[in-house]
Amino acid sequence: MNLPGQGPDQQSNPSVAAAAGRSLDPHVQRYAARTAGMTASEIRALFAVASRPEVVSLAGGMPYLAALPMDSLATDVAELIATEGQQALQYGSAQGIPQLREQICEVMALEGISAHPDDVVVTVGSQSALDMVTRIFCDPGDVVLAEAPSYVGALGTFTAYQAEVVHVEIDDNGLIPSALSAALDAVRASGRRVKFLYTIPNFHNPGGVTLSAERRPEILRICAEHDVLVIEDNPYGLLGFDGQTYPALRASEPDNVVYLGSFSKTFAPGLRVGWALAPHAVREKLVLAAESATLCPPTITQAVVSRYLAAHDWKGQIKVYQQAYRERRDAMLTALEQHLPAGCTWTRPDGGFYVWLTVPEGLDTKAMLPRAVTQRVAYVPGTAFYGDGFGSRQMRLSFCYPTPERIREGVRRLATVLEGELEL
Ligand code: PMP
Repeated sequence: MNLPGQGPDQQSNPSVAAAAGRSLDPHVQRYAARTAGMTASEIRALFAVASRPEVVSLAGGMPYLAALPMDSLATDVAELIATEGQQALQYGSAQGIPQLREQICEVMALEGISAHPDDVVVTVGSQSALDMVTRIFCDPGDVVLAEAPSYVGALGTFTAYQAEVVHVEIDDNGLIPSALSAALDAVRASGRRVKFLYTIPNFHNPGGVTLSAERRPEILRICAEHDVLVIEDNPYGLLGFDGQTYPALRASEPDNVVYLGSFSKTFAPGLRVGWALAPHAVREKLVLAAESATLCPPTITQAVVSRYLAAHDWKGQIKVYQQAYRERRDAMLTALEQHLPAGCTWTRPDGGFYVWLTVPEGLDTKAMLPRAVTQRVAYVPGTAFYGDGFGSRQMRLSFCYPTPERIREGVRRLATVLEGELEL
């Protein structure tokens, strides 16, 4: 039997032991074994250097909030407290405030989803939905399938619950159906259990690609055949640069898909308002998980979002965002074309925040990052987006936050770094 803090992971994991030795943490014997899987993401470590003003950060995925109508939002929030403060500052239901759940159904209708507000659970960003979904489904050692690469925050959550991530290849049209079938067969043959497929169908983070319309039914069919639940994480779905929206997987398979949504990219991430739409029984479990985690999501930020959806032209605001991000995407793609050395390839996103860049053989994006920061440009090394150490020739470039001019400058600096690496 493993007592807390004496699990095999902690005793045999050299990085944990080294970290413990370095910090002389007096609590090291107390931690639960699962904390061995909790490590600071490469992105977090980067934030400190990348936020220095002289560095062009192509690293973080921060939305361009200068595009928001701050003055009228300030008036709204003041009015909300003045007129509805007693409710907005009170505890609420673990499932979220009913009016917001109704409005969320209207938002999801834009992607072809027909949902009842009773099946929506408001969450503290979609990150907490990911945490709760993993908590209710995954025992240590269970397998979770995720795209290769996948969202760093989801991978961190899966690892924290001691699930094992098996990656499935993607290409320019998103998840490859034959690779999904092969992965499911391989896991089954090894005698392990796949708990769910975690997928980001639209404007992928970090891949920048979108699952094609033809592949969507195929992915759903394969998962249904293998009796595997789909977790559809879709924070960027309404940020297509030509205004295009893809029908959600959830729209055609409501019984086998848990859909995760968020106001972080279409409105503001600091509010921490997201949601999960789940089949009835799963919804029940999510509400119980929410109760034990937070009692209820913050009532005040739910009320702010609800008022925003009722009183503002939120669809118009999404168009403003689309335009701003499209301009930035164009600046990045043109600069990459102009400056990057031969042998580099990259994705061309139709929406979202990210370009996924592959550098020539022999280069290592993690090893060269300190030299890039010295040249005053930052990115996220590809290894952050894999659970298995892959990705050393890849990096994620974000175009969401810097101005087009800064993006061009950042890419010029990156090109200089890459040329220097090729000469080494
Ligand atoms: N999923 C994906 C794919 C993301 O990119 C992000 C944020 N970067 C999240 C989930 C979490 O978003 P939030 O918690 O802000 O809703």
